[in-house]
Amino acid sequence: MENFSCSMAKDAERSVVTTYWSIGTNLGNREQNLALALRCLVENANIELCGQSAIYETEPVGYTDQDAFLNAVLVLRTSLRPLELLALAQEIEARLGRERKVVWGPRPIDLDLLLYGDLQVRTDGLTVPHPRLHERKFVLVPLAELAEDQIVPGLEKAVKRLLEQCSDRAAVTRYRPVQIRWDWTKMES
Ligand code: ADP
Ligand code: MG
Repeated sequence: MENFSCSMAKDAERSVVTTYWSIGTNLGNREQNLALALRCLVENANIELCGQSAIYETEPVGYTDQDAFLNAVLVLRTSLRPLELLALAQEIEARLGRERKVVWGPRPIDLDLLLYGDLQVRTDGLTVPHPRLHERKFVLVPLAELAEDQIVPGLEKAVKRLLEQCSDRAAVTRYRPVQIRWDWTKMES
């Protein structure tokens, strides 16, 4: 895991919160999709990248004619509120999806808000902690790398305990290169 210093100034009005994100892709140029989504996130002035897990490759279960996924977890410090973050994530998903729709299909990137500080949110469009976080090894393995002792609100268990108890048997293997590279944004798609 690589750590970045978090220098975002604390806003007097809006507190800065540590958030964890799952980022995944299995369509098109997967490396480029990861890099473009990350660039879109950090281009937002209210978001700062504080850490990222290794990238993992996850074989799809069920629909085996799909490509394998690349998955990672990002740590972002932000002054944005949960619904603002959801809107931003959906905008990024749509942007990347639309750009590649003709060639690659509709969903080259999936951005899920896993944790927003200690907050629990339950609205029509947003549930935090992410409701399927504990069922997915491709989320728990990279999340445990960054925050194994983090207690997941609602489940009241540490991430490492959730990973031990997870019954997902899909293979989640380390990918090379280990982390998202900025120069992937310039790859041919
Ligand atoms: P999944 O991520 O489970 O594969 P989708 O990406 O298609 O599924 O998301 C389906 C819906 O989940 C979105 O329309 C979004 O409103 C909702 N959603 C609820 N909670 C969250 C969350 N924490 N992060 C991202 N999306 C969420
Ligand atoms: Mg999603």
